[in-house]
Amino acid sequence: MKKIILSMIILAGVVGLMSSCKEEAKYKALIVTGQNTAHDWTVSAPVLKQILESTCLFSIQTATTPEKGADMSSFTPEFSKFDLVVLDYDGDAWPEPTKSAFVEFVKNGGGVVVYHAANNPFPDWKEFNEITALGGWGNRNENSGPYVYYRKDSLIRDNAPGRGGSHGPQHEYLVETRNAEHPIMKGLPASWMHTKDELYQQLRGPAENMDILATAYADTTFKGTGRDEPVLFTVTYGKGRIFHTVLGHVGKKTDKYPAIECAGFITTLQRGAEWAASGEVSQEVPVEFPNSASTVEWPGYKPLKNEAVAALD
Ligand code: ZN
Repeated sequence: MKKIILSMIILAGVVGLMSSCKEEAKYKALIVTGQNTAHDWTVSAPVLKQILESTCLFSIQTATTPEKGADMSSFTPEFSKFDLVVLDYDGDAWPEPTKSAFVEFVKNGGGVVVYHAANNPFPDWKEFNEITALGGWGNRNENSGPYVYYRKDSLIRDNAPGRGGSHGPQHEYLVETRNAEHPIMKGLPASWMHTKDELYQQLRGPAENMDILATAYADTTFKGTGRDEPVLFTVTYGKGRIFHTVLGHVGKKTDKYPAIECAGFITTLQRGAEWAASGEVSQEVPVEFPNSASTVEWPGYKPLKNEAVAALD
């Protein structure tokens, strides 16, 4: 009975969400997920779906890979049928034809959202790293490309040897706009408090054709680098546009997900996805956006498990 009630509540929510859109969605988006070494993709992927669907701009499909260690040859999504691919994936290598199809998709003008740990996999796949611009872990080091960060107002590309990717304990931190004129950032405050999250630092990669939209100061109090680390940025690759957000940690073995309930995370994801799909942003900045003094959480995007979504069918 409890399950039925839960399903009814979820169904009401989903129907409510769908019926609130007056027109057919303009863009087709594909969320790629199914493996994530240190994160619970069964929580994050459905939340990403809800966040993007609630703009009424996107119709969403999900491509789920086989489990870790399984034969990946069946993983052949048709990227070219979509306007946008949202990467929520950190796992086994894709088959060669899938890798080629993804690179072609981006080259030909496809949009990509790189979400949090989606910059962790494939350290040796050259084109993937050009598309994401910066990445972490996977034994990345000085051969992967420079560290990229700000020191006051100077953008630094630092070729010093060392690991790629780290973070200290999760905490709330200030996100500071670096490119207020970019369509994704227009109308957002100059700085705003992000909810408790990991702060990725020491990312490194080819870092070509990238535009840093926002940074966050990695405070040494939280084992930070003492640098202003890029947290939101765009990349262009061929005709393709990429929006990369390092925000939004969803850990395993927890039922609290403050990072993906942050109004700042949600809004920038929605705006970044639209820009990646179209080159424009039509969405208004919500009035309840966080400011430099306080966080804003929107717990309306429930961490809905995939099992709960499947139970609706
Ligand atoms: Zn994380």
